[in-house]
Amino acid sequence: MFARILLPILWLLASCSPVAEDARPVATRVDTLFSGGMVFDGSGSAPVAADIGVNDGKIVFIGNAESSNVAAEDVIDASGLWVAPGFIDAHSHAELDEDYGRDALPYLAQGITTLVLGMDGAGSSDVAARLDGWRENGIGTNGIHFVGHGYIREMVLGEEDREPTDDELDEMRALVRKAMEEGAFGLSSGLFYVPGTYASTEEVIELGKVAAEFEGAIYDTHDRDLGAVYEGIGYEASVEEGIRITEESGLRGIFSHYNLQGAHNYGRADVGADLINDARSRGVDVWAAHHPYTATQSSLRAYTIPYWASAGGAEKMIARYDNQTTSAEIKAATNAMLQIRGGADKIMFVDPRPDLNGKTLAEVAGERELSAADTVEWILREGNAGVMNLELYDHNNTRRLAQEAWMMTCTDGRTPRPDQPITHPRTYGAFPKKMRHFVFEEGLLTPEFVIRSFSGLASDFYNLPDRGYLREGYAADIVVIDPDRYRDMATFESPRQLSVGVVHAVVNGQFAIRNEVATGELAGVPLKRTSGTEN
Ligand SMILES: [Zn+2]
Repeated sequence: MFARILLPILWLLASCSPVAEDARPVATRVDTLFSGGMVFDGSGSAPVAADIGVNDGKIVFIGNAESSNVAAEDVIDASGLWVAPGFIDAHSHAELDEDYGRDALPYLAQGITTLVLGMDGAGSSDVAARLDGWRENGIGTNGIHFVGHGYIREMVLGEEDREPTDDELDEMRALVRKAMEEGAFGLSSGLFYVPGTYASTEEVIELGKVAAEFEGAIYDTHDRDLGAVYEGIGYEASVEEGIRITEESGLRGIFSHYNLQGAHNYGRADVGADLINDARSRGVDVWAAHHPYTATQSSLRAYTIPYWASAGGAEKMIARYDNQTTSAEIKAATNAMLQIRGGADKIMFVDPRPDLNGKTLAEVAGERELSAADTVEWILREGNAGVMNLELYDHNNTRRLAQEAWMMTCTDGRTPRPDQPITHPRTYGAFPKKMRHFVFEEGLLTPEFVIRSFSGLASDFYNLPDRGYLREGYAADIVVIDPDRYRDMATFESPRQLSVGVVHAVVNGQFAIRNEVATGELAGVPLKRTSGTEN
């Protein structure tokens, strides 16, 4: 704030000084000038050397500052660096509402300046309250909120495994409408999770139709079965369901963390690509986002007991464990589910509880001298737990899907609590890791293609009229990256490490990172849904 007052005074002084003897026309003054960088504009075009001027939170100049006589008090030397639009995390669980997550630093350090939240069906329908909270408390990046189908279903039906009555469906419709009126970008669903999984396809379509009354509204799907669901509908049917919901509700669709799960799906990425390409070729407006890790993160309950076992809530689940017959059935299912997921040594706890954090299910079972299925019971009786499933994805599938023109990028990362040492590294490293694999190491993709998947592509999809590209008149969400140093540092063993190489990150014209140091500035804003498509 001090700088905002001081700088105009300095300029006033400067303009009275002998420097004004320069014979050229009066310089156009901007707040900040990023000078001499290689500019990736977000369109996928090859980069060009250019200077970028920022004034009052907006990009006001792109070109040759010297020949256009554009000057600034604050000149950032970007020579040898990449200058790009601030990145957009198309599927995130950043904890912007918590004191420990408000600054969004793990994301900013990757170059992310906008987060898409409320994912997997979990987004609150009290949208206005959430957005007001962001405005009042401040947020480190911009935020986009989706209302969740699972959240609404839980409010109306609890965790019951049944169809809603007509009245209940109306109640759910009203909650979607309220959320959209209050600024949700669309409806998210988590048909893999309790209670979303208890919904029929038709139920989601009905709610999607309400969201579709609002122009530009989006359906974000976490599929019912990405390939590793016990007695599930299978990968192909699951993707077809997401496409059908998108098409019949009249929404635009995005598949979250789009990939194929399980060793039986290694090398089958063409199937996933074809399903989306076929839908697009017949006019369904469907897109996807992904991250480059082979591990997923979810809950122990979702990964290790069947849906019927958790129907009705925790008490009913415990009663089923107390009953010898149903308990044996749950444990048989747990063993089958663990086999699909690669075994108990591929399930690693990312739960804050120190006796679990960082250990595999096999290790915890060994400590307790219990079978894996008995260990699951023991933990679930005390509540659910956060886990990763290691090696569920195949890198070759990811690299195949990364080449598609509709593939955006996401972290799917949840900001860990301060006392939690082990978490999924994707929170800290998804974007630079994608750049590292596919550009720096494998030479598969150009940097401009990957940067587009980080920025302009998401701008087009979310209908953001003034973000995701470097253009005059756009909001000054800008990242300056050192390509020689842009790397993910987070590993599974030591995940809480910020990525490096983002030299500056600017959100709405304010430096959130300057010279690789976080400023603590909370310059993000909640973004509004717009119907415009021009970019
Ligand atoms: Zn997610």
